[in-house]
Amino acid sequence: MLTRRSLLAGSTFAALSTQAHPSAAATPPAGRQTPGIYRYRVGTFELTALYDGIWYRPITDTFIRNAPFAEVEGALADAFMPADKLTTPFTTLIVNTGRKLVLIDTGTGGQIAPSAGALRENLAATGINPKAVDLIVISHFHPDHINGIKDKDNGLVFANAEIAVPAAEWNFWMDDANLSAAPPELKLTFRNQRRVFSDIARNVTRFEPEKEIAPGILPLAAPGHTPGHTVFAVNSGDQSLLVLGDTAQHPAIFARHPNWQAAFDVDGEAAVATRKRLFDRAAADRMLVTGYHFPFPACGHLIKTASGYEHVPAEWRPNL
Ligand SMILES: [Zn+2]
Repeated sequence: MLTRRSLLAGSTFAALSTQAHPSAAATPPAGRQTPGIYRYRVGTFELTALYDGIWYRPITDTFIRNAPFAEVEGALADAFMPADKLTTPFTTLIVNTGRKLVLIDTGTGGQIAPSAGALRENLAATGINPKAVDLIVISHFHPDHINGIKDKDNGLVFANAEIAVPAAEWNFWMDDANLSAAPPELKLTFRNQRRVFSDIARNVTRFEPEKEIAPGILPLAAPGHTPGHTVFAVNSGDQSLLVLGDTAQHPAIFARHPNWQAAFDVDGEAAVATRKRLFDRAAADRMLVTGYHFPFPACGHLIKTASGYEHVPAEWRPNL
């Protein structure tokens, strides 16, 4: 009888594989990952998912405001995630409309976790010069979305890009009264936003929802995670993509448990309402979606289940 133990007792396999490939052991392991880029199309637009890395965010029993921690631990285990940590990948998106090169969100700038900050290296692998990016569009002002605007010396990474941000997001976070009223840990977020934006404020465009910011890119208000959190419909020809930003963080946790309010949501109830509204629409319309914290390449579809939603990742395709 073939048991797991007999399968794992590798001596037979090891012997076989050495005989079959006598030179295999002479090839040194690469010891590093391949570039994190993935291309796909929406109509005539070419999209590039651009991976910045991953953070295993430590969490405690206060992480989900409205569920017992034992349930959260169960969900982490069900998703094969480490205990007490939220697996948090970061994937930004480049949209080449044919006329403009648009970057949606900018990654961590290497300032959040040692295992994140690969955006510039991966951008180099795409062959795109950072100076060729025409427009940076920001979904919201959390550091993992804005820090990549600048390098560690406060220099602009995308020297020629116009920067466009949600007006509601700017109004909330750049208000000094809101900073003063914020709890200490949130003050760090406010200070980081001032570090990124204060000396370039004159050049930052603020946009309103429901008005295209570039041909085919329509911002839609999606408040809750932050007051001005914004998602984007990318439309070309008869095809669309919904860029969900942080409507949900890792789908194995927050699509499966859409009612959960995370500690980092500024307004937990609004975040849940927005998530369910957008996910219901995406599932009903069978829309292609991408989520900033979905597993790379972060695009795919959502289906409705009895208790929530399930993310169905896109297949790798060699041709666009
Ligand atoms: Zn985020």
